[in-house]
Amino acid sequence: MGLLSFGTPLAWEEAKIYSDHVRVNGINHFSSIYHKLKNKQKDCLLWGDEVEYMVVTFDDENKNAKLSLRVFEILSELQKEEEAALQNSELNGTSWKPEFGRYMLEGTPGLPYGGTLKDILQVEPNMKFRRQLAAKYMKPNEVPITIASFPRLGCQGQFLEPHYEPRGEASRSLFVPDEIINPHARFPGSKVAINMPIFHDIKTPKPFIDPTIPRDRNLFPEDKEAAEGAALPDHIYMDAMVFGMGCCCLQITFQSCNIEEARRLYDQLANMGPIMLALTAAAPIYRGYLADVDCRWNVIAGSVDDRTKEERDLETLKPEYNDLDLVYDKEICKKLMDDGIDELLARHVAHLFIRDPLVIFKELNIQSTNWQTMRFKPPPPNSNIGWRVEFRSMEIQITDFENAAFAVFIVLLTRVILSYGLNFYIPISKVDENMLIAHKRDAVLNDKFWFRKNLFENEINNGINRESLNADGSSEEHHTNTQQPNGDTPTSIEDEYEQMSINEIINGDGDKFPGLIILIFRYLESVNIDIESRCMLGKYLEFVSRKAGGKLQTTAKWIREFVRSHPKYQQDSVVTQEINYDLMKMIDKVQKGEAGAPELLGGFGIDS
Ligand code: ADP
Ligand code: MG
Ligand code: MG
Ligand code: MG
Ligand code: MG
Repeated sequence: MGLLSFGTPLAWEEAKIYSDHVRVNGINHFSSIYHKLKNKQKDCLLWGDEVEYMVVTFDDENKNAKLSLRVFEILSELQKEEEAALQNSELNGTSWKPEFGRYMLEGTPGLPYGGTLKDILQVEPNMKFRRQLAAKYMKPNEVPITIASFPRLGCQGQFLEPHYEPRGEASRSLFVPDEIINPHARFPGSKVAINMPIFHDIKTPKPFIDPTIPRDRNLFPEDKEAAEGAALPDHIYMDAMVFGMGCCCLQITFQSCNIEEARRLYDQLANMGPIMLALTAAAPIYRGYLADVDCRWNVIAGSVDDRTKEERDLETLKPEYNDLDLVYDKEICKKLMDDGIDELLARHVAHLFIRDPLVIFKELNIQSTNWQTMRFKPPPPNSNIGWRVEFRSMEIQITDFENAAFAVFIVLLTRVILSYGLNFYIPISKVDENMLIAHKRDAVLNDKFWFRKNLFENEINNGINRESLNADGSSEEHHTNTQQPNGDTPTSIEDEYEQMSINEIINGDGDKFPGLIILIFRYLESVNIDIESRCMLGKYLEFVSRKAGGKLQTTAKWIREFVRSHPKYQQDSVVTQEINYDLMKMIDKVQKGEAGAPELLGGFGIDS
């Protein structure tokens, strides 16, 4: 879908005129897709990853690393490669799309991966191939970098190649020019106010009032907003969508057998969104300052809503866990239900249309947290594609090994969820709370997340004996919950979940809770797999396990430590042009295997 998925928010007056039209058409459209395709069955599991890159250009003379706006030249070459690979039916093909930022590339496998464990092992070589290919069409001083947020984006001075002054009519930003945005993704006149807390280092002023905001600029009427309160003290203020939409992430899309399986995966994986966000945290710097958060998600949430008509998010589809008091349009809901769509799905769709496109920015906060960490992708009309779900919360990692490891972990987790019928349900409000917790600095080390205690308690057949696992990974038949089989002493929902560390969630608590990694290993033992593949998958899982256990740093921690231990750093939260240059050089070397980063990688990914 590429850029189509940005949608085009309209100006208020225009939106008012079109909103009913959009609504009626949209609802009929959803209804017709649903009915045409609800019985669509696919027997093969397909999946694919998306990696987003920034094109960084080095100016060695001035010790500056900038974002290159040459992406369209590079893309046209890459898309020629894509065509050629398709024509020759090459297995290791690649596919390329533009992204919101005019310095970004999105690369995916040429064709989705298949359902076997062998297929899973294609992901890292394909990611490496993608990066090589991208680099091939760059200048000698340009590199494809996978970093979640570019540290100096929006800083005074030179951070773009070529340089433009921030005076654009479209974004009216005090910090970034319109030229930074892909010209095909036009967001007219939509100024935003994003404030991320600053990291108070020893010499950071308190309160911190950002001296680099041009508060007295008088070019556009909106310019005064910053001085009039939009820019909060002790925060890093950002006023354009590109601060969020210009971040890079790692997404995974799965095709399910049918709509029921897709809905189940959607609901189960939604609970993993915040956990994986914390584990992949990689965005501790914005607009030249160290932030007191580790992740990009709230920056995106504060900057844009990128839902499309065809690709609707669904609420959790299990009623008693759906505890948000959502506003929804009864009329629309009734129409959808009259059309034969079940109540939860109807409510969800109705809820989306009520805020679409009229109040798309105003009500963003309600929609902005866990919901969009998952996306439900109905089959495109007249295509061979089935029902898909997309896992979207992960931040991009520096190396292909790391990105492959997290992708593989999620893919294997879906297999485990489906084959063991795991149940991760907790109330949506708790998932929201987990999203906030995930942003905290070093959340993996210090914080606890709401998680379900008994994953084997089937949401439909409460009380039925199921095969389960002990913490040591051994398996035996036993009762996994205390409820009566006929359910006459139902436990309350509050008893079903508790707060756990990420280490406990992933590696188990050594007691009752087995940990997701052990479940995955157990699953791998139960399927036919050759030793070599088992060994490679084991490396990825071991890596994720060590991240969760705090034995390896998150990317955010590693970047923060790099800055704080840089000889030129003044303990004042400022990431200067030179520190950023050295950081980008280091990231490029780590990614190429030319520099070790033992705190980040251990010995992983060196020769894989
Ligand atoms: P979007 O940007 O809308 O999320 P993309 O077109 O970039 O989607 O594709 C996302 C991922 O889905 C890619 O890795 C692609 O290979 C994969 N993919 C494509 N077709 C299918 C399918 N039928 N089932 C599962 N994954 C698919
Ligand atoms: Mg894409
Ligand atoms: Mg996309
Ligand atoms: Mg993308
Ligand atoms: Mg995507």
